[in-house]
Amino acid sequence: MATATREKFDNIIEIKNVTKVFDGITAVDNVNLAVRRGEFVTLLGPSGCGKTTLLRMIAGFELPTSGTILLEKQNVTTMPPHVRPINTVFQKYALFPHLNVFKNIAFGLKLKRIPTGEFDKKGNPILRKYTKDEIAEKVERVLKLVNLEAYGYRGITGLSGGQQQRVAIARAIVCEPKVLLLDEPLGALDLKMRKEMQLELAAMHKNIGITFIYVTHDQEEALTMSDKVVVMTDGAVQQYGTPKAIYDEPANAFVADFIGESNILSGVMKEDFLVEFCGAKFKCLDKGFGKDERVDLVVRPEDIEIDTKKGMLEGKVVSTVFKGTYYEMEILAGDYQFTVQNTVERLPDETVWLSIKPDGIHIMKKLKTVNEYVGEVLTENTVEFCGGEFEFVNTDGFERGDEVKVQIPFDKIELTDDEDDGVIGANVTQTLYKGSYYQVQVYTDDDNDFLVDTVDEWDIGDRVGIKINAENITVTKKEEESEKSEKIEPAENEAEEAEDGE
Ligand code: ATP
Repeated sequence: MATATREKFDNIIEIKNVTKVFDGITAVDNVNLAVRRGEFVTLLGPSGCGKTTLLRMIAGFELPTSGTILLEKQNVTTMPPHVRPINTVFQKYALFPHLNVFKNIAFGLKLKRIPTGEFDKKGNPILRKYTKDEIAEKVERVLKLVNLEAYGYRGITGLSGGQQQRVAIARAIVCEPKVLLLDEPLGALDLKMRKEMQLELAAMHKNIGITFIYVTHDQEEALTMSDKVVVMTDGAVQQYGTPKAIYDEPANAFVADFIGESNILSGVMKEDFLVEFCGAKFKCLDKGFGKDERVDLVVRPEDIEIDTKKGMLEGKVVSTVFKGTYYEMEILAGDYQFTVQNTVERLPDETVWLSIKPDGIHIMKKLKTVNEYVGEVLTENTVEFCGGEFEFVNTDGFERGDEVKVQIPFDKIELTDDEDDGVIGANVTQTLYKGSYYQVQVYTDDDNDFLVDTVDEWDIGDRVGIKINAENITVTKKEEESEKSEKIEPAENEAEEAEDGE
């Protein structure tokens, strides 16, 4: 009895402390993840966050720099791809154009050798090919699964994109892998076909019972199809959970921004269950933060109530758009512009009152509250960090060669259009609208990140310069033990939970 339950909820894949560094760039940063047998798990995150690299390490196309990958408890970290019971479907179908659908799917089966159950004199298992009938039976079975029963003898080139992708999936599942990896498989399809294929894929997953690990940067796709979603940024797992848990309780501002429409604000926890933002205090359901700890908080647009006479925050309607079943309004309250969704329309310039119930406010720990680096003093008033030489005000008598801690508040960094106007160059990798300003993340060429609070709008991929005034750079003695990172690794708990024999 226990075995069947165990089988079902067993972790089929466990990723332990896996890191991948390419030429000094950390693509995957100490990831821990446990995928249960039969689950549909989606790796979701912006371009460059490391999801494909993680998938390629699971497939065996890429070796981790450190860490281990277990498949059914067996260490497969260095095992070549073709001997792993894993198959991959890519965005580009890579089908053989000169073979028909049946032959494309049968291709892998023809090469496969299976044990006869007998052994040679040396005790090695004797292998045989699949018979023609066995191949036909298997191909027909998967053609049915991907809804292409009548297409076996069609040529590949006459098929639509969606049909070709279904052939690619059929080809990947016909050899009965234990895990199917899908790397943006719907990326090349138009929107309508994508939506249809999303539903089909989710249904296929249920019918086949194989574990799916899916990569996408499309949050709607992830929420629609998956049992669990892994949200990644900067090579690290930010949150791992069911789509509902990730939507309702985002672990931090990046997750909140990535998943659905949201108002993301900075606030201060006054005490347990009480948070202050926009100049008012609100009851919430969160506790365990330090007194006056600065936090990020998210309020979903549908969780804001509007009244014309009373409420917690006074605001003015800036714009309103009808979205089919509700109105989406932009409402300015203080210096924060809220996005609000309601079935009742309020017109531009109308004064309204906003209220938020305690369960509509989700408090999140700030990933970091200040930019902090290790630097080296070069002269009486210059310090080197992140590959640049910056002027600072040396009030503590630091001398050349001193190793120091350098801190710069988010709002004291200037980004310049022209990289040469800054001390160092960097690329914009994230931008997060926080109602009255943008929080922009930039990465320097030596892989250090800066968070910058600015009223200017930047685009992901922009090349910028970084400038900091001398008086905004705080230089202190370097601590012996650097502070621990606050990255969230809930997968560890998941793995433990599962091991507890759920
Ligand atoms: P996308 O959705 O754009 O494919 P991603 O989240 O899948 O992005 P990865 O392709 O895993 O991200 O890339 C993560 C980082 O690793 C990027 O900075 C990328 O440039 C880098 N990277 C990936 N593969 C290599 C490689 N073979 N050599 C050098 N750098 C690489």
